[in-house]
Amino acid sequence: MKQTKMISQFTERAKSLGFIAVGFSRPHRPAHFDSFLSRLADRKHADMTWLERNLDVRADPSKLLAGCRTIISLAYPYPNVRHETKDGYRVARYADPSQEDYHLRLKNLGENLCGWIQKDYPESRAKVCVDSSPILEKSIAWQSGLGFIGKNTLLVIPGYGSYFFLVEILTTAALQYPTIKPMAEHCGTCSLCMEACPAGALEKPYHMDAWKCLAYLTIEHRDDIRPALGLEMKRCFLGCDQCQEACPFNKGAPTIAVSMPSADEILHMGEEDFKTRFGRTSLARPGMEKIKSNLRAARS
Ligand code: SF4
Ligand code: SF4
Repeated sequence: MKQTKMISQFTERAKSLGFIAVGFSRPHRPAHFDSFLSRLADRKHADMTWLERNLDVRADPSKLLAGCRTIISLAYPYPNVRHETKDGYRVARYADPSQEDYHLRLKNLGENLCGWIQKDYPESRAKVCVDSSPILEKSIAWQSGLGFIGKNTLLVIPGYGSYFFLVEILTTAALQYPTIKPMAEHCGTCSLCMEACPAGALEKPYHMDAWKCLAYLTIEHRDDIRPALGLEMKRCFLGCDQCQEACPFNKGAPTIAVSMPSADEILHMGEEDFKTRFGRTSLARPGMEKIKSNLRAARS
């Protein structure tokens, strides 16, 4: 009884911080680990070679925190807002250029929750992961009942959609939570995301070829984007939301926010100007040169 209360109070606390879904699992070999390995074998991860490292940790997330007994998966939403330059070029919704980069914001919220767990488990240790630890976060979140993995390879929460970040808290506290059944997929015969992908990156349901994906090409890929891809970018110069925009689980038209100077102004920025304007935002991750190169491609 005490445990049930603790789990529901934890969930309430997480929701009061803005998380929309919370799930629990024991450390386990992720159900999608073998398909992750085949993706690596087929080189579908493009040149993201860091995905080839720490395979033992990806297979057993408890290696990230000695004595880990529980993994808490949390979803934190980002609004359906399209952030644009004065002349209509945009970035993917997650990369809100008016806010601090999400890694920093969400790490703080995760640590707040760790402090809360420690009140009940004073001896416990915890680790917060936000999109940069070697774990299969979507698969773990699926196992904890948060949502289902759609044909666009993203986690979808029925009733909410897929515009959210995932955060994991690994803790040595053996939280006792109700039995969880992973969610069945709800895509059915829909294939709107695959039809909407302008680059053919969703080659078949649940399979994405990073070499073709505009999100990869505009964020992770070091080289310039081929000008021939300019039209396919649909004026988006960081990330790509097209397979999410097509998904019926993401409801409603976006709000447009003009939160960036014009494309020309960005292209003429020096390092100092760029750092002052975007230094703590998600645009700083790819860096100024990559952002400019993407902008040039989006304008071609
Ligand atoms: S992010 Fe864009 S390019 Fe990548 S799979 Fe989705 S629609 Fe295709
Ligand atoms: S667009 Fe359709 S097929 Fe793609 S993830 Fe959404 S529901 Fe599934």
